[in-house]
Amino acid sequence: MKILIIEDERELADGLALLLEHNGYSAEVCRDGEEGLSYLLTGLYDAVILDIMLPGIDGISVLRNARAQGNTTPIILLTARDQLEDKVNGLDCGADDYITKPFDAEELIARIRARTRTEFSRGVSDYFYGDIQLDRSRQELRCGSRRIKIAHKEYELMEYLIMNAGRIISKDVLISRVWPPDKEPEYNHLEVYISFLRKKLRFVHARTVIVTTKNVGYSLEYNAGAS
Ligand code: CA
Repeated sequence: MKILIIEDERELADGLALLLEHNGYSAEVCRDGEEGLSYLLTGLYDAVILDIMLPGIDGISVLRNARAQGNTTPIILLTARDQLEDKVNGLDCGADDYITKPFDAEELIARIRARTRTEFSRGVSDYFYGDIQLDRSRQELRCGSRRIKIAHKEYELMEYLIMNAGRIISKDVLISRVWPPDKEPEYNHLEVYISFLRKKLRFVHARTVIVTTKNVGYSLEYNAGAS
C-alpha cells in the first residue's frame, strides 16, 4: 500500500516515511501543498498524511480542494497541539482522522491501518478495465474465472497502467511511480517487469494487452476482437 506524506519539515517527513516503510507500506513525500495536491489527485495512494501548516497552499485548502474534485482517498491530518479549531475545521472539510504532533508511532500506524481497512471494506478497492480485474487487497490479476498473484512491483505498474488505460505512459513516468526517487532504476528492469505482466495477462487469457510504442512508452489496451 502506498501512503503519501505532505509535510514540509524535512526530518519529520523523512522519519514518517521510514516508519511507514518499516511497517510494510511504501511512502512518498511532498514538501509543499501545491505539489502534494497534484500527487493526491492522481488517486494512486491508499492514504494521505497531511500537515496543516505548509508553504504555498495550507493543508486545509489541499483537503478542501481534493474533496471538491471528488477525491475520496483517506486523509489523516497532522496538527499541532494548540490547533483545536483546525481539527474541527479539518473534519468538517472531509478529513477522515487527525493526529496531534508530537505523535506516537504506534498510534499513527494503528490509525493508518484502520483507515485503509475501512477503504477495503467499502469494496471500492478493485480496478477494472477491458476484461481484467486488478484485486488490490489480494494483489491478484483476474480475467473471468482465471486468476494469478502478482508481485509488488508488478502490481504497482499494473495499477498505474490500468488507471491510465488507453493512454501511452512514458517509461520515465512509470519508473518514477514505481521506484523510489533516491534509487537509480534501470530501463531494463522496467522491461523485465512489463514482460512478467504480459505473461500473466496471457496466463489468465486476457484480451487486454500492454502495447509498446517504440521510444515512447507503454499503454494498456483492450482488444475486443482478439482470440
Ligand atoms: Ca509544517
